[in-house]
Amino acid sequence: MKTISKLLTAALLVAFTSSAFAAATVKAGPRKGRILEVDAQQAEFFIEKDRTVSIAFYDAAMKAQPVAAQVITATAEAPSGKVKMEFEKKGDLLVSKTPLPEGEHYTIVVQVKTAADAKPKNFRIPMDISECGKCHNPEYACICDE
Ligand SMILES: [Zn+2]
Repeated sequence: MKTISKLLTAALLVAFTSSAFAAATVKAGPRKGRILEVDAQQAEFFIEKDRTVSIAFYDAAMKAQPVAAQVITATAEAPSGKVKMEFEKKGDLLVSKTPLPEGEHYTIVVQVKTAADAKPKNFRIPMDISECGKCHNPEYACICDE
C-alpha cells in the first residue's frame, strides 16, 4: 500500500509540475515587457514609469516592426471600476492616451488586432509592476517558472 501511494504522489507531482510549467510560458521582449503573440506578429506590452502602456511590434524573428494597421485597446479592471484605454501612434509605438488607474494587483485585458478587420485576440495581464528578484523583469513580464 505504501508503494502505491508513493507512486500516486509521484504521478500527481509530475502532473502538477507539467501543468504549472505550461501556465508559465511568458516571454519577455527586449524592453523587458511581456510578449503577446498574435498571428505572425509579437506585440510587447510595457508599462512606462508614468503608468502609460506602450506596445512595440516585432515579427516572428523579433525584428522590430513599424506601427501600421495594428489596433490595441485595453480595459483596466481596477478596484475603482473598469477603465477603457485607447492607444495612439507615437513613433514606432502604440501608447495609451491615459495612464493605468491607481493601485496594483488587478487585471489588464489587452485586445490586439493586427489590422482593423483582423480577428481580435485578448490577453489578461496581471497589473504588478514590482521587480521579480529572480529574472529582474517586472512581475507582469516575469519569465520564471513559478
Ligand atoms: Zn521572474
